[in-house]
Amino acid sequence: MQQQEGPREHTTGLFVNPVGQRRTDFQHACGGLFAQLRVAAGAEQAASLLEREAADLLILDLERCEIGLDLAPLGALVAARAAIKAPVLVLCPFTNAGWLPALMGFGPIDYAIGPLREQQLRSLLDARLRAGFAPRPAPTPGEDELRGLLALHGAGQEALQDADDSERFAERLCAVLAAWPGVAHAALFQHRDGDLHLEAEHGLPGLRLGALLKPGARLLQSPLRHAFPGLLAATTDEFILLDAPAKAGEPELAERLDAYGVRSVMGVPIPGEGPGGPRGSLSLLFDHARPFSHAQLSALDHLARLAGVGLRMAEAARENEALLARVTHLATIDALTDVANRRHGEQLLEAEIKRARRYRLPLALIAFDIDRFSAVNDSYGHPVGDIALRTVADTARALLRSSDVLIRSGGEEFQVIAPHTSAIDGLKMAEKLRAAVEQVEIPGCDHVTISLGVAQLGESESGDSLAVRVHAALARAKRAGRNCVELAMQ
Ligand code: GH3
Ligand code: MG
Ligand code: MG
Repeated sequence: MQQQEGPREHTTGLFVNPVGQRRTDFQHACGGLFAQLRVAAGAEQAASLLEREAADLLILDLERCEIGLDLAPLGALVAARAAIKAPVLVLCPFTNAGWLPALMGFGPIDYAIGPLREQQLRSLLDARLRAGFAPRPAPTPGEDELRGLLALHGAGQEALQDADDSERFAERLCAVLAAWPGVAHAALFQHRDGDLHLEAEHGLPGLRLGALLKPGARLLQSPLRHAFPGLLAATTDEFILLDAPAKAGEPELAERLDAYGVRSVMGVPIPGEGPGGPRGSLSLLFDHARPFSHAQLSALDHLARLAGVGLRMAEAARENEALLARVTHLATIDALTDVANRRHGEQLLEAEIKRARRYRLPLALIAFDIDRFSAVNDSYGHPVGDIALRTVADTARALLRSSDVLIRSGGEEFQVIAPHTSAIDGLKMAEKLRAAVEQVEIPGCDHVTISLGVAQLGESESGDSLAVRVHAALARAKRAGRNCVELAMQ
């Protein structure tokens, strides 16, 4: 038979919360459990009440408290209670679990995660009071736990070795976290490209957090963003602790998690740089609901900071790579026409010559030069000349195969490296280029023509010798009256 709840003969309590209605509600719900229950609106009032008359149990209800304003005075209360070994029960909303490690820094506390229904609160207090509410031993972790935390810390540091790639780093970190006793599943969320991304998850085979949280396309618009600690921590920058999934008020989510044996859920924000909000979060699913010690919560906070460092390093590595690729690209192309520049063209020609030789394949080089281009500049101006250069380059590029390389080798002179191409095929290609350029409309000026030389690489010929021969052919084309193709002599 259940024992009747009733006032403990000698137990006195003091309940602290800034909201009048909450104090009244608490008195209604739990006043009967105490011989005497006093209430205070804040830490100062509580301190002066305690000075006048001690209380067996101090209950700090953090609902509607402000961590910035209230932490220090509430912490002083906790410290004063620790000095006389008197118990403190903290009622903490699950969205503000960040208070817990902060208050634990002042002295030992017992805590219960809210929201708690009236009946839950009553039975919780009843059970605590029945057990005599002995002050909990100071939260000094045991040797095993310390070793475990040190190992966690060390493994987290090691994961930084993979911090040149954010996905690999996130996977390693989740594996480290999932190996921590009690953690059934660990995941890492990160903000990037305007959404929150699940970078990695580890543990609980079959559980796909992405599918569970995101029926639509975007994680930031998940209907569970107000309830799932990992999402909440990443958006609010708060440490979130749900010691029973049902407390988040989403029965379906609670049911799904329950089916996986999940008994408590945590979200730890990963700090970002500056005031821009968190970079993401660590999400942990536990297979049991246990009270956490200060050392454990600090270790998780430390790991979240480490995750921040790792993700920042990964981002820097990604940016460096992109920058290097951009600089390399800029160093190899001609800014006006967007084709390979002369220096890069020389390197490409050497590489293609080597390849042609290795595989015994023909290679042709075409050189062409715009006819009487000075006249274009003189008649229409330099900017129109530039447009003509770009148009000629675009026209040539459009005709070439993907394996051909177009190079701007000088002012109004270009080359085409044509792998796999004999002299005859090179001649055909050159003729096509000539005809196409002759036809193309150039905005702002008349049509232009080009003269071309074509040469096929000799058996043991060098790049320089090939270039000399192709230029000689081009010069002959100019002498022959321009707008024509000449084949180089062997
Ligand atoms: P030819 O038929 O013998 O080739 O006569 P040409 O006038 O084309 O030859 P020349 O070498 O005398 O003149 C080349 C001109 O190309 C001179 C130079 O001002 C112009 N040029 C070179 N680079 C650029 C450029 O980037 N933009 C413009 N608008 N003109 C350029
Ligand atoms: Mg010219
Ligand atoms: Mg020229």
